Amino acid sequence: MKIGIPNEISEGERRVAIVPKMVKQLISDGQEVLIESGAGESAYFSDLEYEEAGASIVKGTQLLFSGADLIMKIQPPQRDEVEMMKTGSIYIGFLAPVLNLNIIQLMVEKNITSFAMEFIPRIARTQSMDAISSMASIAGYRAVLIAAQQLGKFFPLMMTAAGTIPPASVLVIGAGVAGLQAIATARRLGAKVEAFDTRPAVKEQVESLGAQFVEMELVADAETVTGYAKEMTNEYLKKEREIIGSRLAQNHVVITTAQVFGKKAPVLITEEMVKRMQKGSVIIDIAAEQGGNCELTEPGKNIKKYDVTICGTVNLPSTLPEDASRMYSRNITHFFSHLYKTNDSAPDFEDQITKDSCVIYKGEIVNEIVKKALQKGGTNTHD
Ligand code: NAD
Repeated sequence: MKIGIPNEISEGERRVAIVPKMVKQLISDGQEVLIESGAGESAYFSDLEYEEAGASIVKGTQLLFSGADLIMKIQPPQRDEVEMMKTGSIYIGFLAPVLNLNIIQLMVEKNITSFAMEFIPRIARTQSMDAISSMASIAGYRAVLIAAQQLGKFFPLMMTAAGTIPPASVLVIGAGVAGLQAIATARRLGAKVEAFDTRPAVKEQVESLGAQFVEMELVADAETVTGYAKEMTNEYLKKEREIIGSRLAQNHVVITTAQVFGKKAPVLITEEMVKRMQKGSVIIDIAAEQGGNCELTEPGKNIKKYDVTICGTVNLPSTLPEDASRMYSRNITHFFSHLYKTNDSAPDFEDQITKDSCVIYKGEIVNEIVKKALQKGGTNTHD
């Protein structure tokens, strides 16, 4: 198969879907790799490194798309990109299909078999393909570094000739993949950390990282079968805001990561709560792209209100382009090898990973979530 890696054209995107090391692996598995000239540059991988790994460097986006049997990308494809793809080719990458229904329809018309990275089921045997987790872990790490840079205080306890300075206190709300990495990073920097999540299973993980779990009456069935949080009732969220509100004034940094799969992020910090925070505090809202956990969050912006800095971070993984590309590249290569075990084999739809992640096959939408969104006449924000 000729696998094409285009330059990522979304604004601010610095990652590349395949790094030179994975080119070698794909080639040793019998594939051919075409890469658009300069595609790895902003992640610090040069054309020369790709060439040495065995890839063919293609000058020109149109040539790249029209020459590939399979396109590997990170960001969902834009209309121009789908138009350039070969009819009957294959796409693997993030798709955000429900937000991009017009694009999906164009892909159907062009009979482009499409697999969405975000639909890979999160089960034990998909850990090596799970780009949601690898990227979330980068986001958690980066969020703490941004907080450390914004805060006018040290993170660690400092005992100096000029006096003893107590460590910064950090509250992490939502202790999933991003939250746990944020806790670990803040602890490594010497901060005092406490964390909260609605899923009881998380308490032990939080404590094992040396953070304190903020106690509140937990709901026994707060988790779906796939391990995601369920949407909480308004009554529960009100109680939760009270608990969080009582902790805010004790903390200098708040990192919010609370999300509910497929839904808008819950608002857990209101304007009134921000008003009561210490001057100079910092909120890093990792859930900004899903609407934000703080009422005042503006996605993509750092704002200051009531002497509190609120960072509505978006696409944090792209701010660590080199390692984010390495991790994503490994995820997508494992996924590809799972889907296409040999050069002439078709995907096996008896397999749960293949079945759940496929959106378009043989010119038809095969994914139930996307089918339902189309029936409802959903939104198209990226077209
Ligand atoms: P996520 O990004 O959807 O949510 C982040 C965190 O926010 C979650 O821990 C969630 O419980 C929490 N949250 C939601 N509503 C909240 C609220 N009102 N208040 C406080 N916290 C709230 O989740 P994620 O990090 O992508 O994954 C969550 C879980 O999924 C994991 O911890 C794990 O159980 C499961 N998972 C399994 C695998 C696997 O088996 N391969 C891989 C990754 C994740």
